[in-house]
Amino acid sequence: MTHPQESLEQLKERYAAVQAKQLQLDMTRGKPGPEQLDLANAMLTLVDGDHYKDDAGTDCRNYGVVDGLPAAKRLFADFLECDAEEVIIGGNASLTLMHNYIARAMLHGVPGSPRPWCRESAVRFLCPVPGYDRHFNVCKEMGIEMIPVAMNDEGPDMDQVERLVAEDASIKGIWCVPKYANPNGVTYSDTVVDRLASMTTAAPDFRILWDNAYAHHHLYDQEDQLKNILQACKQCGNPNRVIMLGSTSKISFAGAGVSAMACSVENRSDVLGHVKMETIGNDKLNQLRHLRFFQNMAGIRAHMKRHAAILRPKFEGVRKVLTRELEGTGLATWTQPRGGYFICLDTAPGLAKRVVALAGAAGVKLTPAGATHPNGHDPDDKTIRIAPSMPSLPAILEATEVMALCVKLAAAEKNA
Ligand code: PMP
Repeated sequence: MTHPQESLEQLKERYAAVQAKQLQLDMTRGKPGPEQLDLANAMLTLVDGDHYKDDAGTDCRNYGVVDGLPAAKRLFADFLECDAEEVIIGGNASLTLMHNYIARAMLHGVPGSPRPWCRESAVRFLCPVPGYDRHFNVCKEMGIEMIPVAMNDEGPDMDQVERLVAEDASIKGIWCVPKYANPNGVTYSDTVVDRLASMTTAAPDFRILWDNAYAHHHLYDQEDQLKNILQACKQCGNPNRVIMLGSTSKISFAGAGVSAMACSVENRSDVLGHVKMETIGNDKLNQLRHLRFFQNMAGIRAHMKRHAAILRPKFEGVRKVLTRELEGTGLATWTQPRGGYFICLDTAPGLAKRVVALAGAAGVKLTPAGATHPNGHDPDDKTIRIAPSMPSLPAILEATEVMALCVKLAAAEKNA
């Protein structure tokens, strides 16, 4: 039911009624729901005391094979659209691969670096906003200064990116979530991919951290297409520019998936030289589990359709409630992603923090306002990330209703 032109008093009354319900709803993080995790349960019994060797006869219980089982490299080559010789298999988290890549660049530099990044007077990274808070955390931890760049519906504002990287040699990289981006669902256009691959950078060791976390996470049969950036970089004579990343965290188990990185053979051999110092080999039993369960990309694609069937009603539920409660009010706009894990709600400027606080006090936990921006600072205080995957559908509908009420109440308070 809509509540046209409610007064501040009426909104406060409705809010008090919601508070009295003592809700406990959580839409903070993009975790898969339990029914999604159940989809991969068979994986847990595919490797046991009789089945621990890969198809080449390697005993996966033992040390070794530091870059990953050959079959795992082939699977992830298809997954990331590159050659198996360009792949390194990691542990359970692609975030570790990203964190360690940057940490090693700080300590040692990367191919093309005049010196380790920590010996530069400043190191800066471009951060398209809104973006992923854990990318920002990595920069913060390493003392890397973050420069926000605007996103539009084709990806980062490339005029801004090209200008910045051409004039400032301390800008060593850019974070990109190029498909169904966290949090605004954008997939980069071919033009953006080409401009990233070909742009002139003042830094000779500029890196694109291409975090393709949602590469295969479509909600609909009609899938977004993303141009292959490693190919594009090679064609432009910048083969070392990009580090591609992905994982099965939101395909198999979020806490026990397999991650992978892909890059030029020169970058790969640089990374591998360091990886050999940090591990004698990642978890090959888990790689084997994944190989047995999915077999190939067709297996992964079929599995992702099962995820989509669970996620689609949740995304559409959020959209329905937002449309019913907020469309035409001028108080908010929201994204309609065709994949990924998030919906972005943009309130009128200056309301997001208050909305999140009001929702929290009414038992609906939302990602802190500002988390989508470097240093937690959203200059317009307008972006709220909604993560509808984890709660049940009824819980999501209720949480979204509360959120919409909080948007109206925050606006009415401001106008009072
Ligand atoms: N990148 C992005 C953009 C994400 O949204 C997430 C999960 N929220 C991750 C990386 C984490 O991936 P992993 O589990 O492989 O570390």
